[in-house]
Amino acid sequence: MPVCSKCAELDLTVEIRSLGELRKALRGIQDNLADGTLEEVIGPTPPADTTRFPDFVSTGYACRGCSRVFRLDVETYHGRGGTWGPVRYD
Ligand SMILES: [Zn+2]
Repeated sequence: MPVCSKCAELDLTVEIRSLGELRKALRGIQDNLADGTLEEVIGPTPPADTTRFPDFVSTGYACRGCSRVFRLDVETYHGRGGTWGPVRYD
């Protein structure tokens, strides 16, 4: 797949091991939603500064340039963490 300039810098899998890292990931996602790089396809995206996350944050996004799909899946209740990354279909 050709590299898309809009989402190239998002196209890596990032481990999220703490609420601080989750907040950082959410801030990045909100920025990309605000500037039109991503659109939310599975939501809602929780605000980065919330004090009460859902037990499981599981959201999905599509790049507006190339339609590549990204997922955020983080278990917060037991603090197991999770990942941000592109969804691979191959
Ligand atoms: Zn893209």
